[in-house]
Amino acid sequence: MYIVMVAPECAPVAHAGGLGDVVFGLSRELEIRGHAVEIILPKYDCLRYEHIWGLTLDYRDLWVPWFKGAIHCSVWFGHVHGRKCFFIEPHSQDRFFERGTLYGAADDTMRFAFFSKATLEFMLKANKRPDVIHCHGWPTGLVPVLLYEIYKFHGMPNQRVCYTIHDFKHQGLDGERVLWATNLGRPEYYFHHDRLRDTFNPRALNFLKAGIVYSNFVTTVSRGYAWEARHTELAFGLGHTLYLHDGKFGGVRNGVDYDMWNPEIDPLIPHRYNIESLERKYWNKEALRNRLWLRKDYKPLIAYVGRLDSQKGVHLVRHALFYALANGAQFVVLGPSPDPSINGEFWRLKRDMNDHPDCHLELRFDAELAHLVYAGADMIVVPSNFEPCGLVQMVALKYGTIPIVRAVGGLTETVFDRDFSERPPEQRNGYVFHQADAAGIDSALRRAIGLWYAYPQDFRGLMLNGMRCDYSWHHPGQDYVNVYEYIRHN
Ligand code: ADP
Repeated sequence: MYIVMVAPECAPVAHAGGLGDVVFGLSRELEIRGHAVEIILPKYDCLRYEHIWGLTLDYRDLWVPWFKGAIHCSVWFGHVHGRKCFFIEPHSQDRFFERGTLYGAADDTMRFAFFSKATLEFMLKANKRPDVIHCHGWPTGLVPVLLYEIYKFHGMPNQRVCYTIHDFKHQGLDGERVLWATNLGRPEYYFHHDRLRDTFNPRALNFLKAGIVYSNFVTTVSRGYAWEARHTELAFGLGHTLYLHDGKFGGVRNGVDYDMWNPEIDPLIPHRYNIESLERKYWNKEALRNRLWLRKDYKPLIAYVGRLDSQKGVHLVRHALFYALANGAQFVVLGPSPDPSINGEFWRLKRDMNDHPDCHLELRFDAELAHLVYAGADMIVVPSNFEPCGLVQMVALKYGTIPIVRAVGGLTETVFDRDFSERPPEQRNGYVFHQADAAGIDSALRRAIGLWYAYPQDFRGLMLNGMRCDYSWHHPGQDYVNVYEYIRHN
């Protein structure tokens, strides 16, 4: 099959979060399976050029219709760690992709509406006729609209669209001007609530809704999150739209890149290990303790790795820290906080805990230290309020670190409680709690710490169960191929 990914991110060249990892990891998996994959991205000024090999001008004069005129673009081509990437560079006073960041500009919706239009115009003019166009996130929500309302009639009648929603919270809203800019026109048609009209604001068009309504198939990044989007308020107003399009909506879990996250080959940890040499994991625990000035005592080490923001359940992270210290465990936090009030709170906590021999807070992003934390910790807490998929728990499992998670989104699909899961014992790999409160997380921490002290052999068995889990791209890759095949033939 010939697949074109249209995305605002691709790791590591344009990377802000999980979406970028998915675009890279899935493309790689599809290529391993023999499919032809190309990725189309904006040519941001902040691209990490050191990750692009052989950047060359591929299409010199692409004129993209925009309002009543057209914008002149160049399209570049290069390899990003083996992936084939095209970069669209508009030459206009709007300087759409010259903002120093990927997102966060006041005109983000117009920037990505332009990108969507330019992508289709490029495919049309460069004679690219993929079997499937796979679009990612709200920024590409207009691609299927433009395909089915315009480009289908200009030589692209057979293309199919798969649309992946990475997060329902960010939806992309704008007014009528987007229709005139992209030459869709006909506001009375598109503002219909069965099409693009936003649920809460009748004067706004909703890009994410556009993607759901117009694509041939819609996925989100785990089955758990797909269920929550359908049945709870986590679709942020799009629940009814999903209900109407239920037959073409499903969850496909994200994969982990085991080339990067694998204790057997990880160059960023001092002692490599696998299932057969698990005792070497304890050497990493010693290394972590040395690095963070923690005392060497017979105690389990519990960690939190991740952004400190309200989505991640920070109040429970704080609570877990005190619970651990009061119950014979050590605690490490590794995470930056984008939110000033949470940031202030954790810096105060860090100062209070400064000399504590069993606790360390590192309030920043540190990729290298993250590897050592996964390898050195005994347990990791993920008490999220919502979690579309979550990478942390899957990485922890690979490193034999027991995840203690709240039962939300992708966490429900990847972590199975040692005591209460309905799965066979050999598939149980961690601890799960339900309520987002102190009693909830305490119940799981108590059981985990209790097992560590009282039944070390059983704890080790649980670690091995986790290390045997396969959360690579292998299964999700096949799921996506099935989706592509389905939409090609229906
Ligand atoms: P989200 O995408 O919502 O931030 P995920 O669990 O999907 O959360 O992915 C987070 C990724 O970022 C994981 O690979 C994790 O290891 C990494 N990460 C999170 N916090 C840090 C940090 N402070 N330092 C280094 N890596 C981090």
